Amino acid sequence: MKEINCKLLIIGAGPGGYVCAIRAGQLGIDTVIVEQAKSGGTCLNVGCIPSKALIHAGEEFHKVRQMAGDKALFGIRVQQPTLDLAETMVWKSGIVSHLSNGIVGLLQKAKVKVLEGKARFRDGKTVLVETETGSQIVRAENIVIATGSAPVELPDLPFGGDVLSSAEALSLQEVPRRLVVVGGGYIGLELGTAFAKMGSDVTIVEATGQILPQYDADLVKPVAKRLSELGVTVLTNMIAKSLDNKGLVIADPDGNQQTLRADKVLVTVGRRPRTDGLGLEELGLDMAGRLIRIDERCRTSMRGVFAIGDVTGEPMLAHRASAQGEMVAEIVSGAKRVWDKRCIPAVCFTDPEVVSVGLSPAEARAQGNEVTIGQFSFSANGRAMTMGDESGFVRIVARADNHLVLGIQAVGSGVSELSGAFALAVEMGARLEDIAGTIHTHPTRSEAFQEAAFKALGHGLHG
Ligand code: FAD
Ligand code: NAD
Repeated sequence: MKEINCKLLIIGAGPGGYVCAIRAGQLGIDTVIVEQAKSGGTCLNVGCIPSKALIHAGEEFHKVRQMAGDKALFGIRVQQPTLDLAETMVWKSGIVSHLSNGIVGLLQKAKVKVLEGKARFRDGKTVLVETETGSQIVRAENIVIATGSAPVELPDLPFGGDVLSSAEALSLQEVPRRLVVVGGGYIGLELGTAFAKMGSDVTIVEATGQILPQYDADLVKPVAKRLSELGVTVLTNMIAKSLDNKGLVIADPDGNQQTLRADKVLVTVGRRPRTDGLGLEELGLDMAGRLIRIDERCRTSMRGVFAIGDVTGEPMLAHRASAQGEMVAEIVSGAKRVWDKRCIPAVCFTDPEVVSVGLSPAEARAQGNEVTIGQFSFSANGRAMTMGDESGFVRIVARADNHLVLGIQAVGSGVSELSGAFALAVEMGARLEDIAGTIHTHPTRSEAFQEAAFKALGHGLHG
C-alpha cells in the first residue's frame, strides 16, 4: 500500500476544505486534500452556484413572460417565450465545470496534492484513502475534517423516484407541472420560487407557522406577498407524511390529513453533517449531537484534528466554511488566530431577496440592549422605481446609548449585493453616524442604507 506523509491533510474539497488547502499551500505548508466526488463540494456542484443559476434563469423567463402578457413590462412587448430546461441545465453545468476546474488549477498553483478518493480515519494521525487505483495511507501532523453535509431524508418520504432532494431538483430536464415542496426554509423557497417562475404549479408545505421561520415577520412579508402573486400556494403548520398513489399526504397539528396531487415532491427539511463512513469512532471525538464539536479555533477534542464548515453545524453557509478554512490554515502555520468575527452575513435568494447581518431587533433586545431602529422603504428609493420593484426595506438596529450598529437587515430586489457593505459596517464597529456620514452613490438601492441610518438618528431626508 502506498504511503504519503504530510504536514496537513484536509478531508473534503468544498468551500471549507479547498480554501483551507489554498491558504495552507500559499503559506508553504506541505498539504494534501482528499475529495471523493468533485472539487467545490456541495456549494459548487449541487448547492449555491447551480441554484443561483436556476433562480436567475427563472427570473429572466418570468420577466419575458410578463412582457408577453396583457400588460407590457417597461413598455416592452414580446411574443410568447418558451423555456427549454434541458438547455438551461447545460448552461448551468458549464458554469459548474468551469469553476470546478478553476479550483483544481488554484490547488495546483498552491502546490497542494489532490487525492481523488474516500477517506477514512485509522487514528488521529492516519487516514486510509480508497482511490480508483487502490488504497493509500496518508500520515499527517494535522488533519482538517471538512466533509460537509447531506440533505435530511424523511423516514416515510425517502428520496428516489418522484421524491427529490435539492441535488436532483437542480438537474431536472423538464419543468414539473405540479411541484410540492416540503419545507419552507432556504432551499425550499429559493427553488420553489425558481420553478414557479419557470411555469410549475408550486405548493409549499411548511411545518411551522411561517415560511423562513429563522427571520422575523416583517422581513418575510414581502416574500410571502410575491409568492402569492406568483400563484404559489403556501401551507403553514402542515407536516408532510408520506406519498401514496393519490399524492402527498400532509397533516395539521391535530392530525387532520389532506392529500396534495404532485408530479414531483421536493424535500428540503434541513441538512445533516456528513460523518458516515469516516471512521470517527476510531477517534472518539466530542460531538454535539451529530455535529463535530469545535472550539473558537476550530479544534476538535483531539490534538491536531480540526473541523470546519457544515460538519460543525449552523449556520451552514459556504462563506462561513471558507472563513474557518482560511483561519485553520494560518493556525497550522503557527499564527495566533481565533474566531473573532462579529457577524456571518446570511442571504436568502428569494424574490425579493432577504439579507440578515448581526442581530435582529428582538435578538438585540434579548441581549439586554436598549435599541434604536431606522427603517427605510424602497418605495421611496428612486433606483428601485426605475427597476420596477419597490418592495422591501433596509433596517438598522443600533444601541440607543452610543449608536453602535448591532444588526442590519434588508428585504428587496438585489439586496444580496448590499450584504458586503452591511457586514463591513458591523465588523468595523460602525456607528449610525459613520453610515449616515458616508456618501452613497445616487441613484442606487444602497442609498436606502444611508437613509435608514439618518432615520435612526431621527432626521430622515427622504421619508
Ligand atoms: P461541502 O460543500 O458539503 O463539501 C464537503 C466535501 O467533502 C464534498 O465535496 C464531499 O464529497 C467531500 N467528502 C465528504 N466525505 C468525504 C470523505 N470521507 N472522503 C473524501 N471526501 C469527502 N450556502 C451559501 O452560503 N449560499 C448559498 O447561496 C447556498 N445555497 C445553497 C443551495 C443549496 C441547494 C444547498 C444544498 C446548499 C446551499 N448552501 C449555500 C450551503 C453550502 O452549500 C454549504 O454551506 C457549503 O457547501 C458547506 O461547505 P463545506 O466545505 O463545509 O462542505
Ligand atoms: P432550512 O432549515 O432552511 O429549512 C427547513 C424547513 O423545513 C424549516 O422551515 C422546517 O420547519 C421545515 N420542515 C422540517 N420538517 C418538515 C416536515 N416534515 N414537513 C414540512 N416542513 C418541514 O433547511 P434547508 O432549506 O433544507 O436548507 C439547509 C441549509 O442549507 C440551510 O440551513 C442553509 O444553511 C443552507 N442554505 C443556504 C442558502 C443561502 O445561503 N442562500 C441557500 C440554501 C441552503
